[in-house]
Amino acid sequence: MTKTYQNLIDGELVSTDSTLEVVNPANEDVIGLVPSCGKDELDRAVAAARRAFKTWSKKPIEERRAVIMQISGIIKENADELHRLLTSEQGKPHQQAMGEILGASAMAGAQATLNLEEEITEDSDTRLSRTRRVPVGVVGGIVPWNFPVMMAMQKIAPAMLSGCTIVLKPSPFTPLATLRLAELIKDVVPAGVVNIITGPDELGPMITSHPDIDKITFTGSTATGKKIMEGASKDLKRITLELGGNDASIVLPDVDVEKVAEQLFWSSFQNAGQVCVAAKRVYIHEDIYDDLSKAIAEYAKTVKVGDGSQQGTGVGPIQNKKQYERVLELIQDAKDSGYQFLLGGEGGDPSGTGYYVPITILDNPPEDARIVAEEQFGPVMPLMKFSSEDEVIERANNSEYGLAGAVWTKDTERGVKIAEQLETGTVWVNEFMQLSPFAPFGGHKQSGFGAEYGKEGLLEFTYPQVITLKRDAAV
Ligand code: NAD
Repeated sequence: MTKTYQNLIDGELVSTDSTLEVVNPANEDVIGLVPSCGKDELDRAVAAARRAFKTWSKKPIEERRAVIMQISGIIKENADELHRLLTSEQGKPHQQAMGEILGASAMAGAQATLNLEEEITEDSDTRLSRTRRVPVGVVGGIVPWNFPVMMAMQKIAPAMLSGCTIVLKPSPFTPLATLRLAELIKDVVPAGVVNIITGPDELGPMITSHPDIDKITFTGSTATGKKIMEGASKDLKRITLELGGNDASIVLPDVDVEKVAEQLFWSSFQNAGQVCVAAKRVYIHEDIYDDLSKAIAEYAKTVKVGDGSQQGTGVGPIQNKKQYERVLELIQDAKDSGYQFLLGGEGGDPSGTGYYVPITILDNPPEDARIVAEEQFGPVMPLMKFSSEDEVIERANNSEYGLAGAVWTKDTERGVKIAEQLETGTVWVNEFMQLSPFAPFGGHKQSGFGAEYGKEGLLEFTYPQVITLKRDAAV
C-alpha cells in the first residue's frame, strides 16, 4: 500500500483529508501521498512559529546551535533510509542521493558553527554604540525539486541559528525525504520552531503574502522568484532569492584534454543536468575543440542512463513530466534548426515509462540557439568554439543570469584573471559545484537576490539594531 506521509506543525505530525500523489520519475509509480495544505493549515503553522519565536529567539545561540547539531547528526544516522527515499522521488542515482544527504548534514553542521557577534561602532568618551543582530521573526521557506533535502536544510539551519522560526514548503514533486526528516527531528526541535507543510504550487503565494510571515527564503526558478518579490513587496517582507542560472565553462587551450573531459562531463550531467550551477554552456578554445569534444563524447558513451536505484546508473531520469517535456522540446527545436549533435538528439520516448532523456551533446550551436540561451535543466551540453579571451568573456557574460561559472586552465593566474571578469556570484577555477558553508552563495543579475551560506547568508535572517549609549548624559 502507498505510504501516507504527515506534516510537522507545532511539534505534532498532522494529516489532511485531501492528499497529493508523489511519483517516482524512474517508473511513474505513485510512491507516496502527502497532505495538501491550504490556508487553514498554513495559518496554524504560522501561528505556531510566531508563538515559538517568543522563546526560541531569546535562547542563547549555543542552545540553538546544539539543536542544529542534533539535526545534522540525525540526518547522518539515517542517511541510508533517506538517500533511498530521495532517489525514489527525485530520480538521482543512489550515490548522488547519498552525496546530497551527507552534504545536507555536513553543511548544516558547519553553518551551525557561525556566530552573530556584536560590533562596536563607536567607543568614545561621549558615546558607546554597538550594532547587534536580531532575528527577523517568522520565515517562510520555499524549496525546489532538484536538491530537496539540501535546500531545506540550507534554509532551516541558518533560520534556527539566527533565532528565527520557520514554515517550510517542499516542492510538491519531492516532499518525501523532507517529511521523513520532519518525523525524525520532531522530538529534538521545540514545538513550532520548524514547521514543514506540503501542498500544491498555490500554497507558495499564500506563504509569500501571509501577513504574519516576516521573511521569505526561496530557491527555484527566476520566473517564480519575480512573483515572490512582487508578493513580498506588499508588506516589505525581507527576501532571499536563489534562482536559475545559465553557467558558462571556459576551457583554455593548455588543459590536458583527457583529464578534463570527464570533469567537464560531470559539471553538466550531475543530477541529469538539473543543478542550478551545472555548466549549461561550455566554451572550448578552437585549438583543442575537436579533440576535447571527441573525448567528452567518448566518455559520455560509458555513462549509463537509467533508474537511479539500479547499480551502475550515472544519469537518472528528469524529475517530473513538465520538465521532461520542456527538455524534449528544446532538443526538438535544436534538431529542427539543423544544429549538429555529437551525441543524442533523438530526444526521449514519451510513450515509454519514466522520464528518460539520452545524454545529449551539441556540436558548436550558435549563441542564440534556444538550447544555449535558455537554462536547459536537463542532460544537455552545448559545446561551443572560441578563439580569443575577450570574445569568450563577452559571450559568457551575455546572459540575463549570473549564478556561477568555471574556467579550466593550467595557467592558474590567467584563470583567476578571467574568473574576475565573469558577472556571476561564484566562479570556480579547475573545479565545479563546490559550495562552502562559509562563503556566500548567491546570484548576480536575474539569478538571485541576497545570498545563502557564510556569514552573509546568516545575516539575511537578521535585522541590524544599533544601541547607542550617551555617556555622562544629563538625565
Ligand atoms: P519553481 O520556481 O517552479 O518552484 C520552486 C518552488 O516554488 C516549489 O516549491 C513550488 O511549489 C513553489 N512555487 C511555485 N509557484 C509559486 C509562486 N507563485 N509563489 C511561491 N512559490 C511558488 O522551480 P523548480 O522548477 O522547482 O526548480 C527549478 C529551478 O530552480 C531552476 O530554475 C533552477 O535553476 C532553480 N534553482 C536555483 C538554485 C539556486 O541556488 N540558485 C538551486 C536549485 C534550483
